[in-house]
Amino acid sequence: MGINAGLKDDQAAEEPLQGAQQAGEENLADTQVHAEETESNQEESNQDSGPEENNLTDNGPVTRENPGIGNLTVHFIDVGQGDSILLEYNGKTMLVDAGERDKGKVVTAYLQDQGISGIDYVVATHPHSDHIGGMNEVLNSFQVKHFVDSGFPHTSKTYENMLTTIDEKDIPFEVAEEGKEIEFDPAVDVEILNPGQEYSDDLNENSIVLKVSYGETSFLLMGDAGLETEEKLMGGGYDLDSDILKAGHHASRSGSGEAFISSVSPGISIIEVGAGNDYGHPHEEVLERLQKASRVYRTDLDGTIAVTTDGSTCTVITQKTGSEKVVTGTGTSENGADSPSIPIITRETESEEVKSEEAGEPGTGTISSSADHAVYVSDLNLKDEWIEITNRDASPVLLEGWKIEDEGSKHTYTFSSYTLSSQAAVTLYTGMGTDTSAKLYWGSESPVWNNDGDTAYLYDNSGNLISELER
Ligand SMILES: [Zn+2]
Repeated sequence: MGINAGLKDDQAAEEPLQGAQQAGEENLADTQVHAEETESNQEESNQDSGPEENNLTDNGPVTRENPGIGNLTVHFIDVGQGDSILLEYNGKTMLVDAGERDKGKVVTAYLQDQGISGIDYVVATHPHSDHIGGMNEVLNSFQVKHFVDSGFPHTSKTYENMLTTIDEKDIPFEVAEEGKEIEFDPAVDVEILNPGQEYSDDLNENSIVLKVSYGETSFLLMGDAGLETEEKLMGGGYDLDSDILKAGHHASRSGSGEAFISSVSPGISIIEVGAGNDYGHPHEEVLERLQKASRVYRTDLDGTIAVTTDGSTCTVITQKTGSEKVVTGTGTSENGADSPSIPIITRETESEEVKSEEAGEPGTGTISSSADHAVYVSDLNLKDEWIEITNRDASPVLLEGWKIEDEGSKHTYTFSSYTLSSQAAVTLYTGMGTDTSAKLYWGSESPVWNNDGDTAYLYDNSGNLISELER
């Protein structure tokens, strides 16, 4: 049970899908991709279910827009440097990887925020700690029906502990095999493209690679697979063309080769990567390659990224960045990068402001998500020494007397008479310069932000903590 060897039969079985019009022949270029922001969802959940919804971890909240039958949602959970991907469809769930050990709680909380109590399939792409470290926490927190492993033995303590838990909990353990399918839901095709029967010496190249297809929309999840696997897949007769590519190995130069990217021709590329990681991921040349071909989302900049599709249209919701509505012809490389973006859309901004004043008490230890406030810290670049503040309100906000502080309040910047326009962003640079409407200068002669990690805090003129962003 579990993994179904009847690949072709399964594909035939899912034809009656609504909206799926002969996906093989139909040009995927008319698939539409929209990006929205978390805020609107946040409002909905606050209205719907009362105060407990405010218990947001700093990794939350990306909630489903349309739960239930009809939509497949793939969440690329922000676990810093590592991978964790949640698939949800029709009440079924699949978790691919669980981040490092200390991210197990983040993943667990995220799933619980989605109202998930059991997981149909847990997939460990390969036994590196940034993919399976958090597994024990997950396996101990949810009823898991199937565990799918790459089957390549590994001697690390993390892997052994994971196997012990699987054994103790009596979770059916299955080994992924190229060409087979994971029986997730009859309407969603989950095909295993890797590993093959012969393992590579490189653990990353034995990653489980999944192609997930629903209607006309497809996702290619590469784990940490690199050029060797890409070559194999390109020579293996697979239809690699996918709308959404989860780039292999955190967009390291060990993968995402030119030929492979053009075979996949993604409309959207997702990079799961931690800010300021030791490996320099994503590598510049790979990032450029992906950006040329597609619209790139990264967990280090965007936070958790949720892609929802009804089989023809995709909606992208990111946790941290402001919204850009992107209409992209997926399947045609150029369109993704050239997509027009439209300004941030805001709803019910007045209630937002009231909420932010109430919730924004400093020193309470509450972690405020950027999604809670109309004005928020939208980006922080430790190395290049700048911070970005965005106002997604429908009206301008006077920031006079507002403050930016770093971790431990070692440095403070106080806004003078500055008005941040509606649906606009301002960048505050550490050094000297002449202020403009889009650029402000702190005037500091030495760096403010700690490259090893820092948090930016934004306070309003009454000293209420409005937003914070950790990098
Ligand atoms: Zn990895």
